[in-house]
Amino acid sequence: MRCPFCGSPDSRVTDSRPAEDENAIRRRRECLNCGKRFTTWEKTEVIPLTVVKKDGARVPFDSGKILSGVMKACYKRSVPVDLLRSRVNALEQEFNQSGENEISSARIGEKVMDMLKEIDQIAYVRFASVYREFKDAESFMDELRELLEKA
Ligand SMILES: [Zn+2]
Repeated sequence: MRCPFCGSPDSRVTDSRPAEDENAIRRRRECLNCGKRFTTWEKTEVIPLTVVKKDGARVPFDSGKILSGVMKACYKRSVPVDLLRSRVNALEQEFNQSGENEISSARIGEKVMDMLKEIDQIAYVRFASVYREFKDAESFMDELRELLEKA
């Protein structure tokens, strides 16, 4: 951190304290060359989560897309939108806190399916049928059968 007055790279920290929003640290520094004081801010770098799609393409994570997907799956079901919104937010938080910068679309899909399975079975099957791109009616029926056996 160069001194803004003389350009010297040597300074010492005289004081550091968290800023009001607590996501930044404010440091008072004293230049060892000219003795002048200045303030620096240290911020946590927030790296936006990136989704890796099946073909390897990278797109920014978008919780709005997930929400609209699960809302479509819950069409005409008695699932409150607020519940879906809070569950999607919780998922996003979980992904962000994983410490990874990239997440595969497959993992997101699996997580969303787990979430829907708890909330509404019909919505789950709808989502799974779109997400897993069932090739034919038979694989879809297999999934349904498995679901019914577990229920
Ligand atoms: Zn200086």
